Amino acid sequence: MDYTKLAQLLFGDVTDTPEALEERFPTRNLPEGAVVTRMAPSPTGFVHLGNLVMGLTAERMAHQSGGVLFLRVEDTDAKREVPGAVEVLIDTLKHYGISFDEGATIDGDNGSYGPYRQRQRAGIYHVYAKKLVSEGMAYPCFCTEAELAAMRETQEANKETTGYYGKYAMWRDRSLEDIQAQLDAGNPWVLRFRSTGSIENQFKFDDLVKGKLTITENDVDHVLLKSDGIPTYHFAHAVDDHLMRTTHVVRGDEWLPTLPFHIQLFKALGFKLPKYVHIGPLMKMDGTSKRKLSKRKDPELALTFYKAEGFPVEAVYEYIMTVLNSNFEDWRRANPDSPADSFQFSPKKLNPAGSLFDYAKLTDVSKNVIAKMDAQKVYTLLTQWAKEFDPEFASLLEEKPDYAKAILAIGRGGKKPRKDLATWQEAKPYMGFFYDEYLQAPEFNEQFSKETVATVLRKFLEKFDIADDSGVWFDKVKAITEEIGFTTDMKAYKADPDAFPGTVADVSTFIRQAVTGKTNSPDLYTVMQILGYDRTVARIEAVINSL
Ligand code: GLU
Repeated sequence: MDYTKLAQLLFGDVTDTPEALEERFPTRNLPEGAVVTRMAPSPTGFVHLGNLVMGLTAERMAHQSGGVLFLRVEDTDAKREVPGAVEVLIDTLKHYGISFDEGATIDGDNGSYGPYRQRQRAGIYHVYAKKLVSEGMAYPCFCTEAELAAMRETQEANKETTGYYGKYAMWRDRSLEDIQAQLDAGNPWVLRFRSTGSIENQFKFDDLVKGKLTITENDVDHVLLKSDGIPTYHFAHAVDDHLMRTTHVVRGDEWLPTLPFHIQLFKALGFKLPKYVHIGPLMKMDGTSKRKLSKRKDPELALTFYKAEGFPVEAVYEYIMTVLNSNFEDWRRANPDSPADSFQFSPKKLNPAGSLFDYAKLTDVSKNVIAKMDAQKVYTLLTQWAKEFDPEFASLLEEKPDYAKAILAIGRGGKKPRKDLATWQEAKPYMGFFYDEYLQAPEFNEQFSKETVATVLRKFLEKFDIADDSGVWFDKVKAITEEIGFTTDMKAYKADPDAFPGTVADVSTFIRQAVTGKTNSPDLYTVMQILGYDRTVARIEAVINSL
């Protein structure tokens, strides 16, 4: 067979050469050890936690080493593509603070190793397809769906491995005349790799996450180009990651089964193999067993979920670091105020079997992250969130920024800041009572008569002076307690509850409920200071009148 002739027959329109491409995309001029890596998501419209885990791993590896992170959009599967998905993808990654040095952006390409959207690279793939054909390493296959289905049936009936290999590779050694006849008839074809591997052979391979692997050679003649001339993932991966000078491929471990083929393909193309970082799946506990997070069952897989709940990006970032590197938490304890990106990230610390996702832990991390923010930052992020998810609340926050910030400053700063909020969604239930619009009528404990409650509130109003400091303020509450025959001695009360009709805690609760509508609130003295004299008094009076 004259392979040059075949190559010319199939790819007569290709004029570019591999040599020219090598020159157009030269080796990057980077310091020793710099990692060039990428995110290569498919624009399906669904951006998930796995994307973020891989994105952050790649981002850390690139930027920690003085390397390059780029975004390549893998849009070869037109059927799966949802309109606007590329924009959603780019926006979401941006929201989570993954900063790309080059690659696809909303406004087009940024960088000199593009195009960065695979559908725009068809011409480039064909250069290498032509090369492989001319060297006898690839060939056209005209099998119909029906033929392939029949092949599979035979293999299943014979209890053989299914696939296009060995004697089943029907078009592997067909004559130029046969091929010509099919082409003349206008029949569709795919380009297949001519595998010389054997499943009898194994070799060792080092993955940065999985460690030492034993790989069995591939003997399947996989498809390189589909009938529309668009490459499969495998072929595009080899060509793109070579020409874009990727040094490390960070991707999900669902690609491990086809890794033997990828290794083979890089060799056939004369490309240096990059290093691989195969990331295990994200799992969660389901009862007592672990399972993979699923798109169908677990809303928390979608990144939109975290945005809607109002987890700050910093918290999600911090949590993912906790999940990925087991020593991150110790580092955080030792460096409470350092930016998270000063932590030395290592792909070797990733759990090869996959990471366990734990919502309660995320909530915990997020509380710590928010507790450390100052009121201005909380105000800015909360307002941003509310504008999208609770516009009415957003306008209240924006109407009186200083008031909102004073509320958000309660318990902030100092050594032990309060940890009231894990998400922005929790802000309204927490602080809504400061706004008359959201104030709820209190429901007093029925164990106490309305008269008792009203008496406490009346007495409080008689004594209330907004100029009091918190010590004087609380002395007044204690005085009321004693005046109505309740106790301020909590110890004595605990020893013999039946000996007292109530305590200073009950008295405080009546006042708290009258002012906030709730039994729980931030420090009541501070709440009154922020509400001011008139509003505090008006609220208490309204409750007295309703009793
Ligand atoms: N488009 C592939 C995916 O989304 C990319 C895998 C890779 O990073 O190479 O799974």
